[in-house]
Amino acid sequence: MSELIDYKNLDGISENEIARLIEYHDKRYWELGEPEISDEEYDLLARQLEKLNPDHPLLLRLGSPSVAGTGKVRHKKPMLSLDKAYSLEELLEWAKKYVRNPDEEFIIQPKYDGISANFDGSVLATRGDGEEGENITDKIPLIELESAGYKGPLKRQARGEIVIRNDDFKTRYSSITKKDGNPYKNSRNAVAGIMGLKDIADMKRQNAKLTFVDYEMISEKVSFHEFRERWPAILENLENLPYPMDGLVVKLADEKYSESLGFTAHHPRGQIAFKFSGVRKTSTLLDVEWSFGKNCLTPVAELEPVEIGGITIRHATLHNAQNIKDKDIKIGDTITVERAGDVIPYVINAIPGETRKDALISICPCCKAELVFEKPELRCVNPECFETRVQRLLAAVRNIGIERLGEPNIRRMMTKLNVKTLRDIFELGFDDIVKLEGFKEKSANNLVSEIKNARKTTDFQLLASLNIQGIGKNLAKSILTEYTLDGLRKLDIEKLSSIDGVGPERAFAIEKELKDQSVFIDELLQCVELAQTKGSSEINLPTICFTGKMPEKRSYYEGIAKSRGYSPVDTVSSELSILVAADISSGSSKIEKARAFGVKLISLDEWLSSSGNTAAPVSPEKKNDDFMDLPLFFSGNSEG
Ligand SMILES: [Zn+2]
Repeated sequence: MSELIDYKNLDGISENEIARLIEYHDKRYWELGEPEISDEEYDLLARQLEKLNPDHPLLLRLGSPSVAGTGKVRHKKPMLSLDKAYSLEELLEWAKKYVRNPDEEFIIQPKYDGISANFDGSVLATRGDGEEGENITDKIPLIELESAGYKGPLKRQARGEIVIRNDDFKTRYSSITKKDGNPYKNSRNAVAGIMGLKDIADMKRQNAKLTFVDYEMISEKVSFHEFRERWPAILENLENLPYPMDGLVVKLADEKYSESLGFTAHHPRGQIAFKFSGVRKTSTLLDVEWSFGKNCLTPVAELEPVEIGGITIRHATLHNAQNIKDKDIKIGDTITVERAGDVIPYVINAIPGETRKDALISICPCCKAELVFEKPELRCVNPECFETRVQRLLAAVRNIGIERLGEPNIRRMMTKLNVKTLRDIFELGFDDIVKLEGFKEKSANNLVSEIKNARKTTDFQLLASLNIQGIGKNLAKSILTEYTLDGLRKLDIEKLSSIDGVGPERAFAIEKELKDQSVFIDELLQCVELAQTKGSSEINLPTICFTGKMPEKRSYYEGIAKSRGYSPVDTVSSELSILVAADISSGSSKIEKARAFGVKLISLDEWLSSSGNTAAPVSPEKKNDDFMDLPLFFSGNSEG
């Protein structure tokens, strides 16, 4: 595992870094066959990128392996993506919204784990961005079609997924090798690898075979009232099919009705994808490594290697020190590991081994200082701790927006140039940086000018760069909309905790850190040119906040709001212009707050219809295996 990132709070990370992470995880997923994060975490990265830059070119090709095509092909009918559910409860919640009576029927089909494609009878094309894919007709000699009542060369029209059957992967692919002489890790990795080849002669020679599964070939029907009861058996049936799958597709059986529900910019309402949950295996806990974060140490289990879902697992997360205590996990124990989808595997429980060694530590592995247990984490509070400093400085640099400066260079600066804080970085000149390993005149100049540019910053970036627990860029911005930085430094805990989104714990942290870092903040203020958030023109836009579970991703509505001249915010304050609620009667805390502040409250439907909702932004989509065939009954949309 290379990085432990809080995917729920990506606010400190720059656009370039998010894009780099997405590319990195695409590579791990498709090329290396060693994914490190879950589909959900990948989704969060994609949403953050969309939030930072809705026009980022990466958004159109999210989650697709690079395929060696011979040109672009425009789909006659677009290949849309499906909304996702990760549990039976979520699935039933979706179903409940659309059933007209208990006998409403649903069709359940496998969700294959490969590359989705369309064959129009002569041209085979990948899904691409849904509208336009890559021409991969030259790969047809390797592909066999499987559709209802037919198995053979790809000669008839179909929409489906290019996969390698499980049985083929086990037998045929045990002797097929890549250019470097190694076999493929798993079938998805093999499909991506082969589809990425410009020339398939070598694969033909090795007798490689891919299967194009028609989406309509396999399906089960179930009525709403027996859905829950029959679900386990359906899951088991479909899971036992000889194709790599990562979930199921559930759709309303009544096509006309489903069509009448229509679909939004990105998902048909009458269908949803259900993602499989994890697979568990047992292994032995060999050791625990502690990975440094900016505020705590995170335990990572080192395991006796174990194969889960075609991937060799050597590490699993143990989340935090409290988890190790709660589950009484010790080195030498037999542990159960789960890999849910492609999530970082995690330890479920432990059975005491014959010899047991404490998995917790009391001394910092870096600076040997006594560690502090602050539920649920272990923390090294030694201000001189090198590893903790690296992480804090890295987070600060990201928040202040110095893109080019990654962890290796921060380490070099700390060792070679005695850099300790952001302020030290601001004071570095060309002569310092050029001394660092790997820097030449040009790269040193680039970094110098980037650091110089970063000195022109905003008060909220500066606040976020102080590494106060729980204060990322978003919250910092919302706080500094209400108070200036100077004003904030004078507030007492009571006032601080009354700021929307702060609360007592964060208030305590803010008060303490602003005091502890007071001298440092003053020094830092000397080196920067600060733009104040409070009263700035961007902030003077009317603000809008959304609450409640909505049919689309939040970013979708925020995009509409921006196009209507609103500035979306996450929290309700007295200054909020409008709160849009999925359900006005839900009485959520945001709604109650809005009522108390006298903020305008409106339902989603009302808001959407209030001023010609036309400016729908493009939403990011992910794994191409989520992109499903757009069934015939949706014809008429974006034809040609
Ligand atoms: Zn330490």
